[in-house]
Amino acid sequence: MKIFVVNAGSSSLKYQLIDMENESVLAKGLCERIGVTGAISHKAADGREYKAETPMPTHSEAFEAVVYALMKSDAKVIDSFDEISAIGHRIVQGGAVFKGSCLVNDKVIEQISELGAMAPLHNPAHVIAIKACIKTFGEKIPQVVVFDTSFHQTMPPKAYMYALPYEYYERLDVRKYGAHGTSHHFVSDRVAVLENKDKKDLKIITCHLGNGCSITAIKDGVCVDTSMGFTPLDGFMMGTRSGSLDPSALTYIAEKDNLSAADINTICNKKSGMLGVSGVSNDNRDVAAAAEAGNERARLAIDMQRYQILKFIGSYIAAMNGVDAIAFTGGIGENDPELRKYVCENLKYMGVKIDIDANKCRGKEIKISTDDSLVDVFVIPTNEELAIARDTLRIISE
Ligand code: ADP
Repeated sequence: MKIFVVNAGSSSLKYQLIDMENESVLAKGLCERIGVTGAISHKAADGREYKAETPMPTHSEAFEAVVYALMKSDAKVIDSFDEISAIGHRIVQGGAVFKGSCLVNDKVIEQISELGAMAPLHNPAHVIAIKACIKTFGEKIPQVVVFDTSFHQTMPPKAYMYALPYEYYERLDVRKYGAHGTSHHFVSDRVAVLENKDKKDLKIITCHLGNGCSITAIKDGVCVDTSMGFTPLDGFMMGTRSGSLDPSALTYIAEKDNLSAADINTICNKKSGMLGVSGVSNDNRDVAAAAEAGNERARLAIDMQRYQILKFIGSYIAAMNGVDAIAFTGGIGENDPELRKYVCENLKYMGVKIDIDANKCRGKEIKISTDDSLVDVFVIPTNEELAIARDTLRIISE
């Protein structure tokens, strides 16, 4: 049984074809510059590659290029559509409407479209991609939508409400929704497996640290709080996003510099975070290299990021009245031993001890705490595509 996983953006389309018999990736690829020019790069599991620049005025042409790559190119991995059992789409914003994954139908497409007001960069692109995918693959292959937000739907109101006038929640659905849920779900499931315990018996903190970053508290097997909020801007500083700050700082800047709400949105989402503070880059590797070379703003950005991550973890330990396991994932979480060491050393007071050698690892699943540590600390590479494929399989099996 093969599942095709789609992660579509406004000008890009990432995909994987996964064989669910052994959960192996048969092929993966990326279409870029959709709507501008168009290019596909596709790789089969055995290393064969197919790359082409081909016009992609819309996502439909991108899917046609993917079909060619999968079925006809030198890196083909299947002979026909019939081999694909289902298609799973990653959807960024499911709001309060979608508590879990579901099959695509006209109503679902309309609801995802309506939620676009809360994820203007993502949901409209997902809708275009779903429609293009139906056009290319036909109605016979079931399509499933898997939401970044649904894992966080178990948060209690005291965690997801903002202390704004209540009418904004009632009238405009303004509340915390979170993001990266598929990753937090996948990683916390792995923690339970590695702990050899029922997830319901564990208090877990998962730290997804990539270009976008979020931390989630999981108790009794479900999410009880998460750092991202109404949108993926909230929480702590990321590659280009500010994380949370005093809203008055923004109204002050807007008044002083005569900026619109849209300008402020752009500043906070695209020009802030590691990039904004360091002035060097949004990429942690570049910022770390600059800090190493003596750049003080780069050092400040690194210090701020680590401090903010530590504070979130500390707050979730308080919120759950303890923690059994902490897991790091995402490009930074999986690859930055210094950050992990900083966090763990600052949790020494509650019995966290890490094995310095184990912590040197990069990008592989490993326990980095010592056997006598009171809290287990893991590095767990995330696999959102596999999580989407598993959920897609579950939905079509039901
Ligand atoms: P995205 O959120 O776009 O999926 P990733 O999870 O790939 O992003 O994470 C990207 C971040 O991971 C970048 O800031 C990058 O610098 C960081 N990263 C990747 N590899 C390393 C590494 N070896 N050391 C430190 N940081 C790394």
